[in-house]
Amino acid sequence: MHEDIQEVLFSEEEIAARVAEIGAQITKDYAGVVEQDGQGIILISVLRGAAIFMADLAREIKLPLEMDYMAISSYGNGAKSSGVVRILKDLSSEVEGRHIIVAEDILDSGLTLTYLMKNLASRNPASIEVATLLRKKTLAQAEIDCKYVGFECPDQFIVGYGLDFAERYRNLPYIGILKPEVY
Ligand code: 5GP
Ligand code: MG
Ligand code: MG
Repeated sequence: MHEDIQEVLFSEEEIAARVAEIGAQITKDYAGVVEQDGQGIILISVLRGAAIFMADLAREIKLPLEMDYMAISSYGNGAKSSGVVRILKDLSSEVEGRHIIVAEDILDSGLTLTYLMKNLASRNPASIEVATLLRKKTLAQAEIDCKYVGFECPDQFIVGYGLDFAERYRNLPYIGILKPEVY
């Protein structure tokens, strides 16, 4: 284990198993939709934290799909939400009339996702659902309708499997709690 990690929450194997389950569920849920629609799903990753999750999830969805990326920022390099969301990079594709699944890394205050869902809804997609790898046990995001949730996690600062602190730790294959003395 990395010396800056206090505790491993989810091992590489646990993550792989859960991502496979979510992929299988999405495959089941969207099989009819995709057949009717004649177009695949658009899987949208919110850079940079969700990129690893989406890459693994995409390979567990056994349906035609496209992958696109958006970069938004609500956190600087710190550990606390600033409440300010900026679009750093927009989608490359048109999503009007398409079935979107947004892959998120972690749902905390829900500010980022609320902003993103409004923004995407204004482009008139056929549907939007959210797949988040992690959801923190906080009161604030109770309102957000998130169809696919990987794991519930404690309200602490989490890193690994795409999640960073000051751009570090994204390449840890597991998910863990960062030692508070590091930030
Ligand atoms: P929210 O807007 O829901 O408060 O925050 C969402 C975004 O903040 C996440 O997509 C993620 O980029 C970042 N974030 C929130 N909590 C954590 C955390 O515990 N660890 C890391 N690395 N990022 C977090
Ligand atoms: Mg994110
Ligand atoms: Mg970050």
